[in-house]
Amino acid sequence: MQERMKYDAIIIGAGFAGLHMLDRLRAMGLSAKVYEAAPDVGGVWFWNRYPGARCDVQSLQYSYSFSSELEQQWEWTEKYAAQPEILRYIQHVADRFDLRRHIQFNTRISAARFDEETGLWDVVAQSGESAQCRYLVMASGSLSVPRLPDIPGIGDFTGKIYHTGAWPQEGVDFSGQRVGVIGTGSSGIQVIPQVAKQASSLVVFQRTANFSIPAWNGPLQPQTQQAWKREYASHRARAREVGTLYEFSDKAASQVSAQEREAEYQRRWDKGGVNFVHAFNDLMIDKASNDTIADFVRARIKEIVKDPQVAQSLCPTDHPLGTKRICVDTGYYETYNRPNVRLVDLKKTPIEAVTASSIVTSQQSFELDALVCATGYDALTGAVLNIDIRGRKGQLLAQQWADGPRTYLGIMTHGFPNMFIITGAGSPSVLVNMVVGIEHHVEWICDCIAYLRDRALDTIEAGQAAQDKWVEHVNQAAAKTLFPLANSWFLGANIPGKPRVFMPYVAKIGAYRKECQDIADKGYEGFQISRSSSKHNQESS
Ligand code: NAP
Repeated sequence: MQERMKYDAIIIGAGFAGLHMLDRLRAMGLSAKVYEAAPDVGGVWFWNRYPGARCDVQSLQYSYSFSSELEQQWEWTEKYAAQPEILRYIQHVADRFDLRRHIQFNTRISAARFDEETGLWDVVAQSGESAQCRYLVMASGSLSVPRLPDIPGIGDFTGKIYHTGAWPQEGVDFSGQRVGVIGTGSSGIQVIPQVAKQASSLVVFQRTANFSIPAWNGPLQPQTQQAWKREYASHRARAREVGTLYEFSDKAASQVSAQEREAEYQRRWDKGGVNFVHAFNDLMIDKASNDTIADFVRARIKEIVKDPQVAQSLCPTDHPLGTKRICVDTGYYETYNRPNVRLVDLKKTPIEAVTASSIVTSQQSFELDALVCATGYDALTGAVLNIDIRGRKGQLLAQQWADGPRTYLGIMTHGFPNMFIITGAGSPSVLVNMVVGIEHHVEWICDCIAYLRDRALDTIEAGQAAQDKWVEHVNQAAAKTLFPLANSWFLGANIPGKPRVFMPYVAKIGAYRKECQDIADKGYEGFQISRSSSKHNQESS
């Protein structure tokens, strides 16, 4: 029998998080291996190849900060990079830092078991191949498990079905086709204008209308890029405090006149992007203030969309602006003025079934050649729980998290020693610039591993009491905001049966970094740290 490979660390996933983790651990002199299900690096940026896919954080900020040579030498071409450019950047990083030889592609990990005898993790791939490691790092992504809608009859559809998060590598040509799109979140709002340009007809099946802000994307001017690069060090330092460098207001919408509010909303609308939602500092905590910005967007939708009934259906009314992830678009609302595009409001006429060739609503049947599902993800916990992870005493992570994810700092979970999660539930994660969040976690995990190594300690895990306190703290942070008012994927509301728990930690990344650093500075307060024989319980009371 072939001997099992043994590594200091195994990392699951070769996206932004996995690659950076690998690079840092190698720099520390550890042996590390990445397993990746896809045939190449990139993570979500490998899979999300749908037409129109691009990041809504500006290119100069949605990039690694750990290498000043890399940040100076890489040239971005657009204000908001499209998926192919981001994928090229990630591939460049893999090559530049010679990471590929430590990555095994086309390998999906199906199980991981902690062996209390050896203090090691046994990691098993779907193929049956297995390896051992001391540290297991989940870099498996926050939005990486696509979800198809469970509509009766969908399996009978004989046309092609695509999910935006698992797009064919060879691309899709919709020319001359009758296409349906289900879903109007960030992905739907990006893909719909592009499909509309190609397809002979497009029917958009909308369940919940979303707020979308124009991107006003365009080429990145060389002088803008050079100026930003000259100041990169200070921009990055600021990003560590705030995530993305938006214009954060110190004024409350409730304390200024209606004219001042309108002028500010208009100014930010004209600039475009997520910056819009930071117009005032009470928009996410005061419903009346939020109504003012939501009204502004609804008025813009009614201005843009010519058919008043269609415009009305496109106006979100069931959640405060920003409580579902705000969308950023290029020509989304304008698309509904095209003669080949039709909006079906599922709140009025729900889908009843899919047949071999159509979608049938309560009112009508729509014949289709292809169906695009922009129907989202099993967010934050999906990728972790898809793996059969067993910690101390064989306990199953899925069981431990049956009522929602429980972590300490969003990085570790009680009963699962030496298992780290990058940008997991309980950390700011998807609420901030992902690359900034990822870099922070990678640094923290590396510092933690160095701490253990320097003291000849074997395992670290979240203490029960500290974890309980953290979960409570994360819940309280969300409860102070309007976020819980929306049926969003932040709450797991898009997955039937998923516990309704607000998963990300609503905090400025700077404040969260400080919390993480303080805990590390106090000798990893609240964690249990042990040498193989003697267990030093450092958990705080
Ligand atoms: P999403 O936000 O979860 O949106 C899924 C859409 O599908 C929603 O409109 C949902 O309606 C609809 N849907 C789901 N099941 C349905 C069903 N059975 N029948 C009818 N409609 C159904 O997913 P996403 O658009 O892929 O975006 C997920 C996240 O990925 C974003 O929020 C963002 O964080 C990230 N993302 C970012 C970018 C970017 O940077 N620009 C682009 C794409 C994605 P309901 O709302 O009614 O559930």
